[in-house]
Amino acid sequence: MKYYHIIAFGCQMNKSDAERLAAILEGLGYQKTDNEKSADLIAVVACSVRQSAVDRIYGKIKIWNKLKKNKKIVTLLTGCVLKSDQKKLSQSFDLIFDIKNLNKLPKLLKKERPISSDYFSVTPKYQSKFQAYVPISTGCNNYCTYCVVPYARGPEISRPAKEIINEVKSLINSGYKETTLLGQNVNSYYSENYNFPKLLKTINDLPGNFWLNFVTSHPKDLSDELIKIMANGKKICQYMHLPVQAGDNKVLKAMNRHYTSVHYKNLIKKIRKAMPDIAISTDIIVGFPKETKAQFNNTAKLMKQINFDMAYLAEYSPRPGTAAAKLEDNVPAAEKSRRWKILNEILKKSALKNNKNYLKKIVEVLINNHDKGYFYGKTKTFKTVKIKKSPNIKIGDIIKVKIIKAADFCLEGVRLE
Ligand code: SAH
Ligand code: SF4
Repeated sequence: MKYYHIIAFGCQMNKSDAERLAAILEGLGYQKTDNEKSADLIAVVACSVRQSAVDRIYGKIKIWNKLKKNKKIVTLLTGCVLKSDQKKLSQSFDLIFDIKNLNKLPKLLKKERPISSDYFSVTPKYQSKFQAYVPISTGCNNYCTYCVVPYARGPEISRPAKEIINEVKSLINSGYKETTLLGQNVNSYYSENYNFPKLLKTINDLPGNFWLNFVTSHPKDLSDELIKIMANGKKICQYMHLPVQAGDNKVLKAMNRHYTSVHYKNLIKKIRKAMPDIAISTDIIVGFPKETKAQFNNTAKLMKQINFDMAYLAEYSPRPGTAAAKLEDNVPAAEKSRRWKILNEILKKSALKNNKNYLKKIVEVLINNHDKGYFYGKTKTFKTVKIKKSPNIKIGDIIKVKIIKAADFCLEGVRLE
C-alpha cells in the first residue's frame, strides 16, 4: 500500500484544493496518512499571500530531504506559487503543477490513466463528513496592490452554476450540515445567467436542512440584491466576512480597493439594518507603504465605529511581483507591531461586547471538535461555543444551546434537551 500526505497552507480555498487533490490521489490507489514520515507521496498546497507560509515550505523541504535518504518519496507542489519562487522550489520538488491542471496529475505521475474532467469536476475527498467547502470561482481580477493572488492563481474563472448546484445537492443528500461557497470575490461571480445572489438563492431554496455560508465578499461589489437574499434566505448563515483592509481613503486608493471608508460604513449599516443579529468579520493590513500614524488612526477609528466580531489583522509584507512591492516598505517592523496591537485591543473589546449580547440566548451549534472536557462548535453567526462534554453529544450534531458565559473569542453554553 502506498500512502499520501497533504499539507495545505493558508486559506479555505487551499483546503478545498487539497480535498480535490486527495480524491485524485486516492483514485490512483494511494491511501491517506497523517504522518509525513510514513508517506510515499507528499503534496503541498502552497500559500504565497504571506512570506511566513513560503518560509514554512522551505522548512518542510529540509525535513523531507532527510526522509528521502532512507526511502523514495515523491513530492508535489501546487496551490498559490509565485513564478519567482517556482525556480527555487522546482529544485526541491519532483513535480510542480497548476491546480487548474489537476486532471493531468495522473499522467504527470506517469500512470497513464485517461481522465477527461477538469479541476472543478473532480469530486473532492471532503475532509469532514458534515462541513464542506465548494469552490465557485478561482483566481482574481482585482489586483489589490499588495496581493499575489491574481499572479499566483491567474484571472477569475467562474464555475458553471449547474455544476455548483449539483455538488451542493449531492452534499445535502449525503447528510452534510454546512456548505461554504468559496471564491476570492464571490460578488463578481457570473456564469450561465447566474450572478452571485441568484446562485445563493437557488442553493438556499434546495430542499433539505443545511447551513449555507460564503467567503469572501469585496466591498466594491456587494450588492443590495445580495443583502436582500441573505436576509430572506432561511438557510443562509447570518455571518459576513467583508475585508476592509484599511479605514483611510488614501491608503485604500493606494491599495487599489475602489471604495472609501464611508462606502464601507454605509454598507455595514445596510447589512445590519436588514439583519440585526449578523456577525461581521474583516481583514486589515497595518503598515502599508507610506501609511502615516494619522492614516492608521483612521483605521483604528473605523474599527471602533464598526464593532467587528472578528478581524484577521496582518502586518504588511511586500510580496514579489505586486505593485506595492515597488514602493519602499517604510513602516518599521516595531511600528507595524505597535499598530497591530492597538487594533487587536480594539477587536477584543468589540468582540466581547458583541458576545455579551448572546448571554442567556438560545442558539443552534454545529459541533465540530472536542478537547479536554469540552465539545466545541460554531453558531450560524460563526461564533465558537464550548459545551461541557456529555455522552449524548457527537461531532457533527446540531444542538440547541443556552449561552451562559461570554469571552472575546469564545462563548460557553449548556445543552438544552
Ligand atoms: N480575496 C480576499 C482575501 C485574499 S488574501 C479579499 O479580497 O479580501 C487574505 C488576506 O491576506 C487579505 O485580505 C489581506 O488582508 C492579507 N494580505 C494579502 N496580501 C498581504 C500582504 N502583502 N501583506 C500583509 N497581508 C496581506
Ligand atoms: Fe487579493 Fe484583492 Fe483579489 Fe482579494 S480581491 S484576492 S486581496 S487581489
